[in-house]
Amino acid sequence: MFRLFKFFVPAVAAVLFFGGCRMVEPQGKITRVYSWGSIGSEEQAKRYAESGVTDIRVHNRKSFELAKKYGITPYYGCFTPTGPHAQVMTPDEEARHRYINGLDLPEKMSKKERKAIIEQRRFEKDHRYGGNRVDELDTINVKTLACFSSDKDLVLSRKKIDKILKRAIPGVKGIYLDYFGYANHRGCYCSECKERYQKWLTQNKLADTGSNKDKFYRDELITYYNAIVRYIKSRRPEFRIVAHFYPDFEADPWFGNRTEVDVCGHTVSWYFKWKEQDIARHTRNILAHARDYNRNGEAVPFIGVNVNPRSSLKSKTPAEIEIELRTIIAAGGRSLMVCNGSAMIEPGYFEVFRKYCGHRAGE
Ligand SMILES: [Zn+2]
Repeated sequence: MFRLFKFFVPAVAAVLFFGGCRMVEPQGKITRVYSWGSIGSEEQAKRYAESGVTDIRVHNRKSFELAKKYGITPYYGCFTPTGPHAQVMTPDEEARHRYINGLDLPEKMSKKERKAIIEQRRFEKDHRYGGNRVDELDTINVKTLACFSSDKDLVLSRKKIDKILKRAIPGVKGIYLDYFGYANHRGCYCSECKERYQKWLTQNKLADTGSNKDKFYRDELITYYNAIVRYIKSRRPEFRIVAHFYPDFEADPWFGNRTEVDVCGHTVSWYFKWKEQDIARHTRNILAHARDYNRNGEAVPFIGVNVNPRSSLKSKTPAEIEIELRTIIAAGGRSLMVCNGSAMIEPGYFEVFRKYCGHRAGE
């Protein structure tokens, strides 16, 4: 015991002196990072590159040139679903949606007052911003999501894509997709969707059950994703299509690997803190199933990061982000998708991302 103590104390002292105050060196690194941030200045471009960002959206010639200068692959724009009308939810879900978005508040109320009330309501209802809700009635925090299934022959969607592609800076490598999903995480109950569901049941000789309904809406989502991917590729065959699968589709959170999207960002940790074992399980799962259904797309673990501790979106500290990155790496993750992208270049967070995702020249 004494001999062990004699060895142990100096050894611990040496570790503390020579390196104990520094963070432990990572075992393996993340080598590809898709950021949802945007480059506003040369200093930002440099910090994004140093923090490990390899792929980012650009919005003008200047950000395109800066991305290229710092070796970051540029993408242009973000397509979000469109349709002839808004999605329809159940009356209870509609009421919750109005409440957490403050749609019942008087129009003449000041912006500041409105924002404060909305924040307070979101805290009160434990609103989860479109991911892993804890309340059955929680809905997404945007005014409306369009009923994309009702966009016959993609008339409105094609128009919207054409507009983005027309503005795209020559030389960009692709486009991002976001907000493909249902505001209530389940489905749209407009008359057209209900009619299509009944027809689908008849055609497939199926009963009207909860699990069949889930399958129908999941397939609607996959069909729309694939139609959009194919249309973009018909216009720009060389484009890579990057998506974050959001909001959650609760019945099948990992349906993304059934789509033809090139880069599938699947949430492994939301803005709200997740348990380490859940982050590890989700990472392992999306990587294990990345090649299912004969697809060639890449599965990428997505993490939500917010740096404002007072926000109802909740926040995670740099130390908590460090644990998440180590967990993802230990589970086999070597790529990452981050939103808010700007969090990666914030003091404290920047150092953590640089340590686990950054690369030196020649690496
Ligand atoms: Zn609908």
